[in-house]
Amino acid sequence: MTAAQNPADGSGAAPRVHDLVGVGLGPFNLALAALADAVPGFSARFLEARPGFSWHPGLLLEGARLQVPFLADLVTLVDPTSRWSFLSYLREHDRLFPFYFTESFHVPRREYDDYCRWAAQGLDSCRFDARVRSVRHDDGVFTVEHVDSSGAAHTVRGRAWCWASAPNPSCPRRCATWRANGCSTPPSTWTGPRVWPGRAT
Ligand SMILES: Cc1cc2nc3c(=O)[nH]c(=O)nc-3n(C[C@H](O)[C@H](O)[C@H](O)COP(=O)(O)OP(=O)(O)OC[C@H]3O[C@@H](n4cnc5c(N)ncnc54)[C@H](O)[C@@H]3O)c2cc1C
Repeated sequence: MTAAQNPADGSGAAPRVHDLVGVGLGPFNLALAALADAVPGFSARFLEARPGFSWHPGLLLEGARLQVPFLADLVTLVDPTSRWSFLSYLREHDRLFPFYFTESFHVPRREYDDYCRWAAQGLDSCRFDARVRSVRHDDGVFTVEHVDSSGAAHTVRGRAWCWASAPNPSCPRRCATWRANGCSTPPSTWTGPRVWPGRAT
């Protein structure tokens, strides 16, 4: 058996086949993990390349708010009774009353990031430092191979999988030099087209 075939727990036993394996832990798969948590007997595993949950690192600008009100959190529009709602997060952090009386229902982006991290830390199905590098399908089972930051390879198996790794950012040609120099945010003097994942306008 090669290192890549070894189960992540190192036990030597054949890896368990989960009902679902998710790749990427941004808000999309995190919402799926939170909703799956309430389904009795459902077994899921979600893999994220980063060492911990982080929503749009480098873009959580002071004072910036979500474009949608708090009810569009990870779960509420599907399951208003979920323990992973934004209101549940506020209650656990003793912030429910201040939030309500402020009457500002568009959440700061930094707080949304913290809310998602709270959910990711509480959900048993979420694994970090797990960069997926291949998915194979044999006899109705998906085998997802991932590596950790030490370079060690692991596999997770599932009857279904959900890839939510987001599109790659696209960069207008005129910014190629800026990008080649390793800049991650546009220079403040730059007034050209906006950069947005998957397209440039
Ligand atoms: C600047 C900006 C502001 C936005 N503001 C809002 C907003 O206010 N409200 C709103 O509703 N939407 C907003 N959006 C839309 C945005 O698409 C969503 O907020 C959200 O981040 C999408 O979630 P996602 O899970 O699809 O992708 P992402 O959040 O991008 O998550 C994808 C994850 O997959 C991981 N990944 C990638 N490849 C691998 C791999 N091989 N193995 C393991 N993990 C991998 C990445 O590390 C990442 O954590 C905004 C987008 C941008 C760019």
